[in-house]
Amino acid sequence: MNISFPEPTITPITKPFWNSIEQKKFTLQQCENCEQWIFYPRAHCPHCFGNRLTWREATGKGRLKTWSVVHRAGHPAWQSLTPYAVGIVELEEGPSLLTHLLIREKELRYQLPVEISYHVLNERQLPFFKREEGES
Ligand SMILES: [Zn+2]
Repeated sequence: MNISFPEPTITPITKPFWNSIEQKKFTLQQCENCEQWIFYPRAHCPHCFGNRLTWREATGKGRLKTWSVVHRAGHPAWQSLTPYAVGIVELEEGPSLLTHLLIREKELRYQLPVEISYHVLNERQLPFFKREEGES
């Protein structure tokens, strides 16, 4: 049986993020007023409420803050990939994001350096995070 994976929900505010991901570029909004980096995408800066937010390329690197190993997926398509890990990555730029981790369970540890890794699913590039290359 071939069950398709659920698509990301794309809105006018998150569209620039997904357009960049399609080109394997990791971008975040940065506030022109207070210079804070922002994720998830939104219309106003959560720090100063300014509305001059600019999309800029980010490092795609961060550290693992917390994680969970999934044995029973919330969607049948993901069930074929279990067990897999999801976690919160604190990006070098400051914001944290929830992501699918391409890291073996026994290698998961607090503050593990991670970086973005792009993979095609349903003919769409999707962002995952893996161990940072060269990190021991
Ligand atoms: Zn701001």
